[in-house]
Amino acid sequence: MTKLVGIFGYPLAHSISPAFQQAAFDSYSMDVRYEAWPVPPDDLERAVGKLRAEPYMGANVTVPHKQQVMEFIDTIDPVAARIGAVNTIARSGESLTGYNTDATGFIRSLRERGGFEPRGCRALVLGAGGAARAAVFGLIDEGVESLAIANRTLERAESLANEASPLMEGISAMPLHGDELSRIAATADLIVNSTSIGMRHTDSEGNSPLAGVRINPRSLVCDMVYNPQDTPLLKEARAAGARTLGGLPMLIYQGAAAFEIWTDKEAPVEVMFRAGESAMAESS
Ligand code: NAP
Repeated sequence: MTKLVGIFGYPLAHSISPAFQQAAFDSYSMDVRYEAWPVPPDDLERAVGKLRAEPYMGANVTVPHKQQVMEFIDTIDPVAARIGAVNTIARSGESLTGYNTDATGFIRSLRERGGFEPRGCRALVLGAGGAARAAVFGLIDEGVESLAIANRTLERAESLANEASPLMEGISAMPLHGDELSRIAATADLIVNSTSIGMRHTDSEGNSPLAGVRINPRSLVCDMVYNPQDTPLLKEARAAGARTLGGLPMLIYQGAAAFEIWTDKEAPVEVMFRAGESAMAESS
């Protein structure tokens, strides 16, 4: 029987996960089909319930379900519990476990595609939502020297900084504008955009979260937004002389980690990159 795995999200029209996950299963000649499952929030519980039996292996979870889905799962992996979001579900018998592979995907993308070692660096994370939480806890685990969190809603940045402060000293929170942000952006070794600013098909398409802010020319600027691949922030960073990393590598590596959870096999990352890049090219 063909096994099924897929992605829950709403809407889902632009997801490229089916393209690169299917390529990974096909490269092992596995009888698995990876599908896109657009599920509105009020149907999520029923949809997750279906995963508890054959032929389902599990699922990926994306916007807007990463937090809500935790209510419908039996066991939450400690990394996902700390981040407060699940992006991968695996089935064992009738039981479902929730994982979060965004943090490992993000850190692996920094090392393998950004040539960047986070240990000892001064990091600036923009955003305080699910993706920012993955970046913050991932960077703390890697031993960054200092961490600043800037967010439009200051209270969310402060609350994330407070939550993470028992794990390391030197975490600061600030609004997404103003002198403090400018000072930090001018000296940070790593700047990460985990807001959705600049994302295609949104009101902020064409905008940069650091418009008019001086970017340290010796920094690596990483934008988690992957559609478009070359975002306004990345263009600004290049103009400032900084190195850049788009969001596609993180997307592929979080998917690779999910593939390994479902299959216990090493993810064929080069195959996944090729399929992901051609799906991006087709969709733009
Ligand atoms: P989320 O939980 O909804 O958080 C959204 C964040 O963006 C919040 O910090 C929000 O600020 C901020 N924001 C949204 N619109 C804004 C605007 N117009 N001006 C200023 N700030 C704004 O979403 P998420 O799951 O963290 O995802 C954030 C982005 O990361 C998305 O673009 C997503 O596609 C991307 N992402 C990429 C990967 C990858 O693998 N590359 C993985 C996960 C996520 P407030 O708190 O003030 O609302």
